[in-house]
This record gives sequence, C-alpha cells and structure tokens, in this order.
Amino acid sequence: MRVELLSISQNAEKLIESAGRTAYLSFKKQSRGITKRFIRMLIKSGHLSVLEHAYATFRIKGGSRAFTHQVVRHRLCSYTQQSQRYVDEHNFNYIEPDSN
Ligand SMILES: Cc1cc2nc3c(=O)[nH]c(=O)nc-3n(C[C@H](O)[C@H](O)[C@H](O)COP(=O)(O)OP(=O)(O)OC[C@H]3O[C@@H](n4cnc5c(N)ncnc54)[C@H](O)[C@@H]3O)c2cc1C
Repeated sequence: MRVELLSISQNAEKLIESAGRTAYLSFKKQSRGITKRFIRMLIKSGHLSVLEHAYATFRIKGGSRAFTHQVVRHRLCSYTQQSQRYVDEHNFNYIEPDSN
C-alpha cells in the first residue's frame, strides 16, 4: 500500500487559533505566543469543531476493499474512491487480505 501526501494546512496551529479566536473576538491576543495554550483550552472545553480547520489530504494506493471498508467508517474524513463504473476494470488487480 502506498500513501502520498497531496496537501496539508500550513501553520495548522496558527490557523486553528485564528479561526477559534473568532468565537471570542480575541484576535489581539494572537501575537502573544499562547497558541498551544489556546488550542488546549479549545480541546478541554469540547470546542472540537475548530480543530477541523486544519486538514491533510492523502492519496492511498493499493489498499484492499477490506481496508477501504474499514477506513471509510471514520467520519471525520472525506473520501473519494476510484469508481468501479467509470474506470475500465478489464484485467483489474485485486488484493486478497490474509485470512488470519
Ligand atoms: C473493537 C472494534 C469493534 C468494532 N466492531 C464493529 C462491529 O461489529 N460493527 C460495526 O458496524 N462497526 C464496528 N466497529 C467500528 C466502529 O463502530 C466505528 O465505526 C469505528 O471505530 C470508527 O468510528 P469512531 O467513532 O471510532 O471514529 P470517527 O468516525 O473517526 O470519529 C472520531 C470521534 O469523533 C467523534 N464523532 C465523529 N462523528 C461524530 C458524530 N456524527 N456524532 C458524534 N460524534 C462524532 C466521536 O467522538 C468519535 O469517537 C468496531 C470498532 C472497533 C474498534
């Protein structure tokens, strides 16, 4: 299986802080080097959706259908899978996972 990083948020912590400070109208505090403390406060208070402003996009190749079946259950990600309708599947490769 091959995992390729396509894109990732630059300065993810600063981005989260910047988005989160919208809620508190506390942008002036942003330059005081307390980003980590602010993010810890968000997590502790359950304000978790703010963390979703940071993202990473990966392309995964060579995974089995058993693998994709499991991974898509994780609801915090968005998925785009190769189509079995629009991609020519003549002579396709397939993976048989170990049974043990
Ligand atoms: C030991 C084990 C046995 C399992 N057995 C089965 C089984 O028999 N049948 C089956 O169908 N599945 C089974 N699963 C899969 C399981 O039900 C979950 O689908 C899977 O673990 C991914 O969901 P998650 O909540 O852990 O993670 P994610 O979907 O990645 O979510 C991460 C966390 O974000 C929060 N979250 C995300 N979306 C929501 C939401 N909409 N509402 C509220 N909170 C949210 C929750 O805190 C969640 O724990 C099993 C998993 C394990 C680990």
